[in-house]
Amino acid sequence: MSSPTDQIPRISLRPDVEIPQLGFGVFQVPPDETEEVVARALSAGYRHLDTAAAYRNEAAVGQAVHASGLDRSEVFITTKCFNDDHGREKAKKAFKKSLERLELEHVDLYLIHWPVPAHDLYVETWEAFIELQAEGLVRAIGVSNFQPKHLQRIVAETGVTPAINQVELHPHFQQAGLRHEHEQLGIITEAWSPLGQGQALEDPVVVRIAEAHSKTPAQTVIRWHLQLGNVVIPKSVTPARIAENFDVFDFQLADAEMEAIKALDEGRRIGPDPDTFVR
Ligand code: NDP
Repeated sequence: MSSPTDQIPRISLRPDVEIPQLGFGVFQVPPDETEEVVARALSAGYRHLDTAAAYRNEAAVGQAVHASGLDRSEVFITTKCFNDDHGREKAKKAFKKSLERLELEHVDLYLIHWPVPAHDLYVETWEAFIELQAEGLVRAIGVSNFQPKHLQRIVAETGVTPAINQVELHPHFQQAGLRHEHEQLGIITEAWSPLGQGQALEDPVVVRIAEAHSKTPAQTVIRWHLQLGNVVIPKSVTPARIAENFDVFDFQLADAEMEAIKALDEGRRIGPDPDTFVR
């Protein structure tokens, strides 16, 4: 019998590494609530968890995975190296600490959280990531919040292309130019704040399309991401929403509906500007 988990499409990051296209984000989930929230997500069927050293809840994510009884190979776990840990040795040390907090032997995806151009250490940090992957401690390596010039530079200087770039992306900030750059370079696009932190759910166009499918605005926006080819990691601490956001595999947006959402782009960020964000 097929389980809810079987419905999640998988995208290839490397020949032997696939990421579930729908995952579960835990930014701003308080550490003391994270184990319960992640346990709920795993029960609902999610098998991809997105944490970061900076979220201070890696330990609780690890505990939920260990307590779930799921085999390690069934759960895809991403964590990230934060801005003050850039540099070859610092990045490797930060990674080992993340691994210890998660109580894992390896992570599935490790990301440079922000490029921090002011420190100019992201190429060196990327070199450390390449070594961690070669050592088998990380199955795939990628970046987050990288602009085209940062991507081009690490590829030119190391010859290794990130598997994925996790960036702010939602109906009001669609990143068409960056997505095109990803296609050129063979990088998968992963959307953070995919619901626009809830703002996208009030858009009348989204509400209308949702009603036409007897779905919710959140399900409609997640479906839009899936059909665009994005990896998508909505966050919720609310049990009903955790389940709702997973229930997105029984409908399809028509081309005209995809176009109507495309027209909502305002080019307006909610989060920090990657060119200037330091911490
Ligand atoms: P999201 O776009 O996922 O929105 C989360 C907000 O939407 C919460 O307030 C949540 O409320 C609400 N929400 C969730 N589901 C529903 C629903 N079905 N109906 C109505 N409201 C809903 O924003 P995030 O910023 O949390 O981004 C998601 C993930 O992306 C993060 O958890 C993190 O993993 C990642 N991220 C990465 C960043 C990076 O720099 N790499 C930066 C920011 C995020 P409630 O929880 O109260 O239910």
